[in-house]
Amino acid sequence: MVVIVGGGITGLSAAWFLHQKGVRVRLLEAAPRLGGVIDSARDNEGFLVERGPNSTLQKPGTADDALGRLVAGAGLEDRLVEAGQAGRKRYVLRGGRLQALPGGPPGFLTTKLFSWRAKARLLREPFIGRAAEEESIALFVERRLGREFLDYAVEPFISGVYAGDPAALSVRAAVPRIYELERAHGSLIRGAIALGKAAKGAGTPAGRMVSFDRGMGVLPEGVGAALPEGAWRSGCRAVALRPFGFKGWEVAWEGPGESGVERARTVILALPAGAAADLVGPQSKAAAQILRSIAYASIASLAFGYDRDQVGHPLDGFGFLAPRREGLRVLGGLFSSTLFAGRAPDGRVLITAFIGGTTDPAAAALDDEELAGCVRDDLARALDIRGQPAFQRITRYAAAIPQYTLGHLDRLAELDRALEPLTGLHLQASWRGGVSVADCIRNAEALAHRIADAPVGVAA
Ligand SMILES: Cc1cc2nc3c(=O)[nH]c(=O)nc-3n(C[C@H](O)[C@H](O)[C@H](O)COP(=O)(O)OP(=O)(O)OC[C@H]3O[C@@H](n4cnc5c(N)ncnc54)[C@H](O)[C@@H]3O)c2cc1C
Repeated sequence: MVVIVGGGITGLSAAWFLHQKGVRVRLLEAAPRLGGVIDSARDNEGFLVERGPNSTLQKPGTADDALGRLVAGAGLEDRLVEAGQAGRKRYVLRGGRLQALPGGPPGFLTTKLFSWRAKARLLREPFIGRAAEEESIALFVERRLGREFLDYAVEPFISGVYAGDPAALSVRAAVPRIYELERAHGSLIRGAIALGKAAKGAGTPAGRMVSFDRGMGVLPEGVGAALPEGAWRSGCRAVALRPFGFKGWEVAWEGPGESGVERARTVILALPAGAAADLVGPQSKAAAQILRSIAYASIASLAFGYDRDQVGHPLDGFGFLAPRREGLRVLGGLFSSTLFAGRAPDGRVLITAFIGGTTDPAAAALDDEELAGCVRDDLARALDIRGQPAFQRITRYAAAIPQYTLGHLDRLAELDRALEPLTGLHLQASWRGGVSVADCIRNAEALAHRIADAPVGVAA
């Protein structure tokens, strides 16, 4: 039996893949529902609001597609929906106007998003050497591609994924695939061409943005329903972790009006870093200290419903990103009702915007009215919106997304050393190995297989 603490997508995926390997699991979730930050609110005057993730990137037909394996295993294939062609078009604000990100070389030559100087600067990229030290994303991109690419492509993209600051995030930890292109091919451009050719040769389909018919929440709900009776329990907060007997662990939990313990040889803490630190602290001060040093970005997600004819922009894409240089406070907006059907009533549109992050921590202190007013004004400028929304909903996260800052991988290696004596205890969540939903599932699957496949007698 394996005890899993945390019923976000990491803990649930670990539970599912262990169960598939014939391992009995018991998952404890503090909140009244499963899913963690995945939270689809469906009862909003006909709008389906994603309070957390709106979609995730699936790579069907690849070894990385743990999401596909989870969806198939839990019987959710019929409920998976793809963003379709419109989802491929992404806008970036430049000079107050939305410019579509070029989809390929011809579009790149004609786009107004980058100047001719910036385009010509790219010709130098294949001849630029590697840096000796670990670099921030900002340094790496400016060195290889130039300042304009940092400001108008990479920085807004990093805001979109991490709500983070490219000058603080480590290129090796936060965007390992980009780092790997340089390492393996000596150039991002040469690497991208080689990867494109290899994918074409192997017939690997391109990645696709996916969600579910009734929102991302279908995934944790469906996985929870597919697990055997008694495999999980919500409303049940783990409050202590202590050794039990010979090589065992005991997790004490509390729920409304009751409490109890779960015992097992193997325990997975699938928790945000701070919550994991609270449980691990009495066993390893060093591990807790490292976990507490992992910074998180605070963020607010605001969903707005407008009548279609209030919005001048065609909303024909995934959404837009607002580079910090453009002077808006909003980080960007998703065209939620364009991406997936059933997100807004007929004749209306749903836009989901984000504000805050590590470059604007003060946004968290704004009251609801100020926050919504500020985002509405920014959206009105970017998307040519007239009048007030018919509907709005605000969700705040004090600690939304872990920041893979410079030194992150060294700190995780140190954490592993500190945890080594605590046999049978595993820590995995979005602060390690990627923050996306698909990454969390992939990392949880790998951990589940390591545990289930460990030789008998070895507490993996
Ligand atoms: C606003 C927002 C937008 C995002 N957008 C996207 C997106 O569009 N696409 C994408 O791929 N990713 C997105 N992400 C990232 C992705 O959703 C998360 O990284 C991922 O869902 C985290 O899953 P997790 O299981 O690691 O952590 P969590 O979801 O945080 O789950 C941890 C769980 O542990 C529980 N818990 C905490 N303490 C205890 C305790 N003591 N006992 C028991 N349970 C406890 C919590 O209640 C929670 O349910 C977004 C994240 C946020 C916050």
